[in-house]
Amino acid sequence: MRFEDFNLDPMINEGLQAMGFEKPTPIQEKAIPLIMSGVDIIGCAQTGTGKTAAFILPVLHHLLQNPTKGVNTIILAPTRELAMQIDQQIEGFSYFTNASSIAVYGGGDGQDYVRQKRALKTGADIIIATPGRLISLIGSKEVDLSQLNHLILDEADRMLDMGFHDDIMKIISALPKKRQTLLFSATMPPNIRKLAKGIMGSYEEISIKISKPAEGIDQRAIMAHDPQKEALLTEVLKNDDFQSVIVFASTREKVKNIARTLKKRGDKVQDFHSDLDQSEREKIMQQFKARNLRVLIGTDILSRGIDVEGIDLVVNFDVPPDPEDYVHRIGRTARASKTGTAITFINPRDIPKFRQIEKLIEKELKKEQPPSELGEGPQYRSAGRNRGGGKGGKRHGRRSSRNPKGKRRGGSFRSGKKSGGGSRRGGGSNRKSR
Ligand code: ADP
Ligand code: MG
Repeated sequence: MRFEDFNLDPMINEGLQAMGFEKPTPIQEKAIPLIMSGVDIIGCAQTGTGKTAAFILPVLHHLLQNPTKGVNTIILAPTRELAMQIDQQIEGFSYFTNASSIAVYGGGDGQDYVRQKRALKTGADIIIATPGRLISLIGSKEVDLSQLNHLILDEADRMLDMGFHDDIMKIISALPKKRQTLLFSATMPPNIRKLAKGIMGSYEEISIKISKPAEGIDQRAIMAHDPQKEALLTEVLKNDDFQSVIVFASTREKVKNIARTLKKRGDKVQDFHSDLDQSEREKIMQQFKARNLRVLIGTDILSRGIDVEGIDLVVNFDVPPDPEDYVHRIGRTARASKTGTAITFINPRDIPKFRQIEKLIEKELKKEQPPSELGEGPQYRSAGRNRGGGKGGKRHGRRSSRNPKGKRRGGSFRSGKKSGGGSRRGGGSNRKSR
């Protein structure tokens, strides 16, 4: 299927072409015709699967066919960064049209607020807003929402996680009842359906199975005790192929410590966490995008929604607590069919969690050992049938010192358990080219 098959406004197709979009992704293929038909939907698909275009294209199309005077569409997003990214995408898709959009968000200075208000006065078809800021704007009566046709909640799961439920309800109470409501989310916890029932009448649900990570990601797992991890990370980063790197750690404290250690070694590194204010975060993101920063270290605050192209490596300094978070995190690399690497450090405590991840991704990864200079890492005990395999590592020491230097996989590390064995899905063997 191709984008032309949706019969979108020709100017939108021009925009798509200019942006290099040729084939719709699965969520786009399903969501676009449904949204064009006017129904409410919940769209659920993992991060990096193109949800933004899935809701923007049909809404933009409808807007071009039925222009309104006041605000036509509101898109709610959890963070300023995401609001800005959505706005950028809209600018791309609508480049050849006369539709206008504006991102409004809190966290900036007073001038921002004045600027946003002024821009709203001159009129915008699409507002992309964080909930708090939109509430102040509605309160100030500066926006005309009487003509609103579409309400979109992007990253609804994240918004609920961040405590925006009441704000969302407040906003909705100020909107016309007759509208199309679209809710997009990377995950589908029960509170999402509850929210949907509260804000939509009947709706259709599209779910692209939260699945395995993109095939282009080379996933690796290295066994490491906590005290080995920083040195191991340093080793990994000696590989110059990794020029754009994100490291996830479990706590803010760890994030700061790792950043300190790496900075000492002269890497261009930045920590990213909730202690930073909005403008600092934004500046950091821009530097990272411009590749003036090699390594970004953060907590899960980094993992959703942030769209940076061409990340070469994602490191899970700690195993993420929730298997789905693993997929979100490593989805930061290899977006839209590029290739990338994801490496997870596993300490003994995290082995059960990692097993859950393997279940979700339907794949068992080879458990590598750290390079021998760092000492032996923990053993990975396979569930149930260990058969003494854990002691079979005599071989690794000699060759493993080479392993952080490049893509050499296999050979230099011992695997806790061989995958394959017939009945399991053959891991990466069913590669599809997209
Ligand atoms: P999600 O919201 O599901 O996390 P995004 O909408 O941010 O994903 O899309 C991820 C990336 O993939 C973006 O860089 C986007 O420009 C790109 N992308 C989305 N759909 C397509 C497509 N059909 N063809 C090419 N690139 C696409
Ligand atoms: Mg998104």
